[in-house]
Amino acid sequence: MNEFDLISRYFNWGKSVELGVGDDCALVFFNKNTKLATTVDTLIKGVHFPEDTSAQDIAYKSLAVSLSDLAAMGATPLYFTLALTLPSVDKRWLKNFSESLKILAKQYNISLIGGDTSKGSLSITINATGIIEKPRALLRSGAQVGDSVFVSNTLGDAALAWQQIQNHKTPSTALLKQFNRPDPQIKLAQLLLGVANSCIDISDGLQQDLSHILSRSKIGANINLMTLPLSTEVAQYITDTQDWCVVLSGGDDYELCFTVPDTRINSVKTIEKNLCIKLTKVGVITKEKGLRIKGLNKTCKSYKHF
Ligand code: ADP
Ligand code: MG
Repeated sequence: MNEFDLISRYFNWGKSVELGVGDDCALVFFNKNTKLATTVDTLIKGVHFPEDTSAQDIAYKSLAVSLSDLAAMGATPLYFTLALTLPSVDKRWLKNFSESLKILAKQYNISLIGGDTSKGSLSITINATGIIEKPRALLRSGAQVGDSVFVSNTLGDAALAWQQIQNHKTPSTALLKQFNRPDPQIKLAQLLLGVANSCIDISDGLQQDLSHILSRSKIGANINLMTLPLSTEVAQYITDTQDWCVVLSGGDDYELCFTVPDTRINSVKTIEKNLCIKLTKVGVITKEKGLRIKGLNKTCKSYKHF
């Protein structure tokens, strides 16, 4: 049983919300045109970050991944709680962790309002809440046949960094930045409200995360490997190895994958220009279910905890 089967079998029974289990955030009714989006994520030493990661980078990534889930819904960050499990009290570590967390929180205008502290092996859990003051949030379930599939920036950088770390190589500064300090795409997401039909943040790789859009929207997609946006380093790695799995299922990108109908493609171009961001069309939504990847001649195994 993988983690997604486990969730739907044992924990998909909540009620009284606009949207429960199955999207990047749950949505709670606030008033007619306003809803709250809430998400929780845990980062565990040795699973989500290497043992020697600095306190600053751990703090940054812990908050950034929750902000990324808020972004996937088009939510504006409001507040978060922090549950910290620490092996011991290390004042220097705590100072570095706290300062880094504060800097990122300030940057995204999100307040720390509570939490929990206990003793054990290092893990960080953040529950973040944001607000959506538009009639419709960005959902995984809204994709329509004929929509273009877009992704933001480049894919595979963090996964290549992780692979190099595991192989005892030191990744470049640029790859490490993507791995330790991904930029949550909050601004982009807010501009996509009313433009995109569906959206998800890419945490487990494009293959698995786009598949979540497809199953929730009950449709399929064709994507083309040759159109995937790559940094120079990842492009070189692909040339050398033909290992597309780093890009498709490596994970930790924290970019947005979203779908847009033809009538609103011009808005994507405007957003791209205004934000100076790269938004690339990588495929199209089809009536035929499933994900087909043109140019891929092997299977890429996506990360699942179980
Ligand atoms: P993401 O990668 O966006 O953080 P996940 O893959 O972790 O999303 O979770 C998928 C969905 O399942 C989300 O809607 C999440 O809230 C829900 N979920 C995950 N674990 C549990 C759980 N233990 N109980 C209830 N819902 C869960
Ligand atoms: Mg997500």
